[in-house]
Amino acid sequence: MIRILRRMDGMFSSLFWTQIFLFSLVEKIKMSNASLNANGKVPSTEGRDPAYFSYYAMLQHQQNMLQDTVRTSTYRSAILLNGPVCFHDKLVLDVGAGSGILSYFAVQAGARKVYAVEASNMAEKMQKIVDAANASGNDVLGKNAFLKNKIEVVQAKIEQSNLPIPQVDTIISEPIGVLLIHERMLESYLYARDHYLKPGGTLFPSTGSIFLAPFTDAGLWSETMGKARFWEQQSFYGVDLTAVYTDAKDEMFGMPVVGGFDPRTLIAPANPGGYIVDFYTITLEELRDFTIPFIWQASYTGIIHGIAGWFDLQFSPPASIQNGNPITMTTNPMAERTHWQQVRFLLKEPLAVNAGQTIQGWMRCVVNEMRSYTIEAEILLNDGTGQLSDPLSSPSPILNLDYNRRRNKWRLHEQTYNYSYYPQTGNDNVFRPEYNCLYEPEQPLDVAVVVENNLLDDATNNGQFVL
Ligand code: SAH
Repeated sequence: MIRILRRMDGMFSSLFWTQIFLFSLVEKIKMSNASLNANGKVPSTEGRDPAYFSYYAMLQHQQNMLQDTVRTSTYRSAILLNGPVCFHDKLVLDVGAGSGILSYFAVQAGARKVYAVEASNMAEKMQKIVDAANASGNDVLGKNAFLKNKIEVVQAKIEQSNLPIPQVDTIISEPIGVLLIHERMLESYLYARDHYLKPGGTLFPSTGSIFLAPFTDAGLWSETMGKARFWEQQSFYGVDLTAVYTDAKDEMFGMPVVGGFDPRTLIAPANPGGYIVDFYTITLEELRDFTIPFIWQASYTGIIHGIAGWFDLQFSPPASIQNGNPITMTTNPMAERTHWQQVRFLLKEPLAVNAGQTIQGWMRCVVNEMRSYTIEAEILLNDGTGQLSDPLSSPSPILNLDYNRRRNKWRLHEQTYNYSYYPQTGNDNVFRPEYNCLYEPEQPLDVAVVVENNLLDDATNNGQFVL
């Protein structure tokens, strides 16, 4: 992690005026306090609850998260390595406990009692594991005997009033979705913080950082354009489809592309440190409508096809707690992959840049009713002409864009998938013919299928193919 950040620092030269720009944009955003939608109401998540909680009620989906070893082992390290200061003899709340794994880690770290709140029917499965422990009598070697009488499973949404939960010393949770924020579970995490955390208590995770960087991927762009071009047909079974061609383009390019990609397709490094979301201090309002400002310096001459995004998670006890062990986990494209992978936002029109040029921009994320965010971004090539628009004037008509400016809008819940797996990543000596659009035959040439002479003769003789 440290190594990666250092490299990014080196490639990022105009840090001074970058900071001035970022500062002024952040100030502007803070001052404006824009309302969330036309009627001033916060889009609710409740309409999605049945689908959302039936998904998490299934063991296979809990298993998918448990088997993300980067995720699960980072949480385990964060909890056990901070056991003496944040867990030993403490009251702990696990928000969205799922199969209960974080609660079990908290007990392993010495927690006095863990309140495990889970809204879905997965709570019943967790209760079985806890009951098996409680039934182990005085047998210290019994099934999960270490959990005995340590865990209270509460099947409820954390937002429900009058839950049988006291004020706790530490809250643990895994409320993280694609690009950190998808699923809007972070709002439940903040609710728990505001209602159940003792002053000076610990939040694990404590911080999330979102990173954005421009990428090139002509193949992905053409594939997406190809889907839109279907609607360009003027006689599909005799019907002219072109009336919805623009809508098709908006839809196809409005879908975030989730998956891994070769980090060498990034044209510039992300801003060091990323956009920090501090779970100790951020308000619900700030989380529901925020804008990430950025400035990139192109490392290469090339075509920007869109913006790639990923995040880091930090686990740090509050400053008042001494002897903590801060732990970081990254989902960046250079690191071991996680089930969150990365996400890419395509531009409808790519933007050409020369190495050394700077590009400035913003990405505004606003909550929507699909338990997700509607995202808009603008990038502007910094060639001395033009000024970045005000993100808060959005939704403004995307008209008269100048040649050096690009803007697009995406719905974070309408995800599509693309996996570009490059096993040789990081090893510049390995070259593959497909990089030059040359393709190897599926079978090696020396054992390629040979049509035997007599079969050919038969086919010719009978006027048909013989198998
Ligand atoms: N802590 C588990 C599960 C994480 S997935 C682990 O780390 O493996 C998130 C879980 O939170 C899901 O099981 C989901 O059902 C639950 N959840 C989401 N929102 C919730 C809410 N508002 N109240 C209670 N549980 C919630």
